[in-house]
Amino acid sequence: MNDNTDWTRLLTRVRACTACELPLGPKPILSASPAARLLITSQAPGRRAHEAGRTFADASGDRLRAWLGLTPEQFYDSTSIAIIPMGFCYPGTMEGGGDILPAARCSATWHAPLFSHLKNVKLTLLVGRLAQERYLPDPRGSMSEAVASWRDYLPEYVPLPHPSWRTIGWARRNPWFEHEMLPELRARIVDILK
Ligand code: SF4
Repeated sequence: MNDNTDWTRLLTRVRACTACELPLGPKPILSASPAARLLITSQAPGRRAHEAGRTFADASGDRLRAWLGLTPEQFYDSTSIAIIPMGFCYPGTMEGGGDILPAARCSATWHAPLFSHLKNVKLTLLVGRLAQERYLPDPRGSMSEAVASWRDYLPEYVPLPHPSWRTIGWARRNPWFEHEMLPELRARIVDILK
């Protein structure tokens, strides 16, 4: 069996996964191909993404694309960018707002087989604390500390905050994020995707 057949079969298995009991039912959402050079590992699809069947199909996605300097066409081009979250299905919402954390079983089951096909990835963006705790070699205390230390994780990883509306105030209090880090990150991404 060649690599392409393997990959197609693996994606078919992922998309048919029904391992979790979820409020709106299983609907795995990811965007990836073995050709991808940039990997985005985020938390889990929100309700809008679940309804659209497309990852980051909401204001958080607009914010993330603006941070990265990517158009929607570039962002969803799976031959350049793989988007593989910690949980592939919408996990539901907590009382009082905020999405429930995805079950650890999703990344534990699917990440290793998926990532083994992504041999061209030059940089992985770890979006949100969950992905950082799982993949940063030496995660610093808080999300903020990890992001402030972003250069320490190069060239393999860059930690980013989750791009929800809650980040707006955080970005104001940490002006280096928009003034220093994002311009450098955008230049790096241009270089990787060219
Ligand atoms: S969250 Fe992951 S493990 Fe659970 S049903 Fe969806 S794809 Fe399967």
